[in-house]
Amino acid sequence: MQFAKWIWGLVLICSSVSTWAKPFVVEEGLPPQSLAPYLKILVDEPGSLGFQDVLGADSQKRWQSNDSDGANFGFSPAAYWVAITLQNPTASPIGLVLRQDYPLIDQLDFWRPAAGDGWVRVATGDRRQFDSRPLNLRDFVFPITLPANSIQTYYLRYQTAGSMNIGLSVSSETAFLPQLGKEQILLGVYYGGFLVLVIYNLFLFLAVRDRAYAYYMGYAISYGLYFGVHNGVSFQYLWPGNPWLANQSLLVLLGFTLIFGIQFVRTICSGPRLAPRTDRVARCFLYVLLPLTAIAPFASYGPMVLTLSIFTLVLSILFMVMGIISLLRGSVPARYFLVGWTALLVSVVIYMLKTFGLVPHNSFTHNAFQVGALVEMVLLSLALGARVGEIQRHGYTDQLTGLFNRRHFDEQLPREFAFAARSGTPLALLILDLDHFKAINDRFGHARGDAALCALGELIRKQVRKPVLACRYGGEEFAILLPRTNREQARAVAERLVRLVEELDLNGMALTVSVGVAARESENYVSAIQLFEAADAALYRAKQSGRNRVELAPSDTEPSIKDLSFVASAQ
Ligand code: GH3
Ligand code: MG
Ligand code: MG
Repeated sequence: MQFAKWIWGLVLICSSVSTWAKPFVVEEGLPPQSLAPYLKILVDEPGSLGFQDVLGADSQKRWQSNDSDGANFGFSPAAYWVAITLQNPTASPIGLVLRQDYPLIDQLDFWRPAAGDGWVRVATGDRRQFDSRPLNLRDFVFPITLPANSIQTYYLRYQTAGSMNIGLSVSSETAFLPQLGKEQILLGVYYGGFLVLVIYNLFLFLAVRDRAYAYYMGYAISYGLYFGVHNGVSFQYLWPGNPWLANQSLLVLLGFTLIFGIQFVRTICSGPRLAPRTDRVARCFLYVLLPLTAIAPFASYGPMVLTLSIFTLVLSILFMVMGIISLLRGSVPARYFLVGWTALLVSVVIYMLKTFGLVPHNSFTHNAFQVGALVEMVLLSLALGARVGEIQRHGYTDQLTGLFNRRHFDEQLPREFAFAARSGTPLALLILDLDHFKAINDRFGHARGDAALCALGELIRKQVRKPVLACRYGGEEFAILLPRTNREQARAVAERLVRLVEELDLNGMALTVSVGVAARESENYVSAIQLFEAADAALYRAKQSGRNRVELAPSDTEPSIKDLSFVASAQ
C-alpha cells in the first residue's frame, strides 16, 4: 500500500513536471535568451480571470506549452496569461532581468513571489503611465533575484488592442547592462541618421525651394517618429506622462507617413505628367487618408491600425507601379526612387518571413525593416538630388537670375490656375517690367544692365516668400505667381517691390519698375490666358500712367473691352 502511494506520488510529480516543467536553467553571466519555447500560455478569451483563478486547480488543464520559437498571436481581444519557470542550480542567488521586448502592449501585469509569502504584482503597459515600469527603459524590464538552488515560476498577463506579440527573454543582470549599452548606441546611430537626413534636406529645401523636399521632410519626420513609437523611445523620452498619446500617436504618425509618402512619390515621379491615371488613384487615397488621419487620435486603436496597415500594403504596390511607369517614360529620379523603394520592400519581406518563423530570428532579420527604412530614406534623398538635376537639365531656370524661366512658367500657370479653380482659392499674378531699360543699357552698358537684372532677381527671391513661381519672363520682364493670395495682398506685395526697386543701390544707376496685377477670385477669369492678359493690360496701364507704379486689373468682372484693346495694341 505504502509502495503504491509512493508510485502514485511519483506519477503526480512526473505529470506535474511534464506540464509545468521544462524550467529554463539560468546561470551567472547568462546572455539574453528568448523564453518563447519555455512559455506556458493560458488564453482567457473574455479576459475575466483573476490571478488566483489561473493558479487554481480548475485552470491547470487550460495551460498550454508554447513549444515554438515565437509567440505572436496577431490581433486578439483575449487576455494572454504567461507562466515561465526558471531554475537556478547554482549555490548562490542570481540577479536576473525578464524583458518583454515589444513595448506596445496595453496592459502588462507581472507577478513574482514576495519575500515572505504571497505575490508581488507589477502593473504596467503602455496604457499606463510610463513610470509604472520598474526600470526607466523603453521596453518592459522586470528585475528578479532567483535564490540559490531553487525553481520558481513567474506569471504575466498580457492584454492589448494591437498585436499580441509576446517577446520574453531572460538574461543575467551582469550581461543585460552591456547589452543595453550596445542597443542604446545603435538606436542613437539610427535616429541620428534620420535627423541628419532631415536637417540636410531642410537646408536643401531652403536653397532650392522645391516642394518635393518639404514632402520628403514630412515623410522622414513622421516615419522616424513612427519607429520611435514602435521602439518605445517616443513614450520614454517625448511624452512619458501621456499613455493616450503613446498609443494614438502611432496611428497619427502612420497616417502622416502615408500622406507625405503619397505626395512625395507623386512629385518625385512626376506623377501628374508621366503617370496621370496612377496619379489619380494616388490622389483618391490622399483624400481618404486626410480625414482618416484627422480622426485617428480619437479612433479605436485596433480597427484603425488594421485599416492603415491595409492602406500601407496597397499604397506600396501603387508607388511601385507609379515608379515603374515614370521610369519607362524617362524619369531619372524614378530610378533612385525604385531602388530605394525596393530596398524597403525587401526589408519588409524579410521582417514578415521572420514574424511567420520562415527565416531565423536574429538581430539582422529583427531589425531588417528599420534598417531598410533608413536605407530607403538615403536613396530617396538621392532621388531628390536627381530631380533637381533634372529640373536644371531641362532648362527650367534662367541662367542670368537663377529664377525659373518662361518655359517653366508657361507650364505652371495653367496648372496653378486649374488648381485654384478646383480648390476655390485665389491666385494672383504680378507682371513686372523695368522702366526705360533700353536707355539704361545705352547709358551704362550691357554688363551693368545684366547686373541690374540680377539684382532685381535677387530682390524678388528675397521678398516674395514661398512663391510657387517667380520667373524671368523675357528680357527685362518678370512674372510672379502667388497662390492663395488675393487682389489686395498681391497689391501690397507689388507696391513693396516697386518701393524696394527704387531704393536699390546700384552705384548710381537708378532703377524703377512698373507692375501689373491681376487676381483670380471667385470665377472672374475663366482661363489662365485671361488672367495673364489682364495682368499684362494692367502693366500697360502702369506704363501709360507714368511708370514706377502698380496697376490692378479691374476686380469685378472679366477684363473690359478697353483693356482687351490695350492687349491687342500691345502685341
Ligand atoms: P519701358 O519702360 O516701356 O519698358 O521701356 P524699356 O526701354 O524698358 O522697354 P523696351 O522693351 O523698349 O526695351 C527693353 C530693353 O531691355 C531692350 C534691351 O536693351 C534690354 N534687355 C533685354 N534683355 C536684356 C538682357 O538680358 N540684358 C541686358 N543688359 N539688357 C536687356
Ligand atoms: Mg519691355
Ligand atoms: Mg521695360
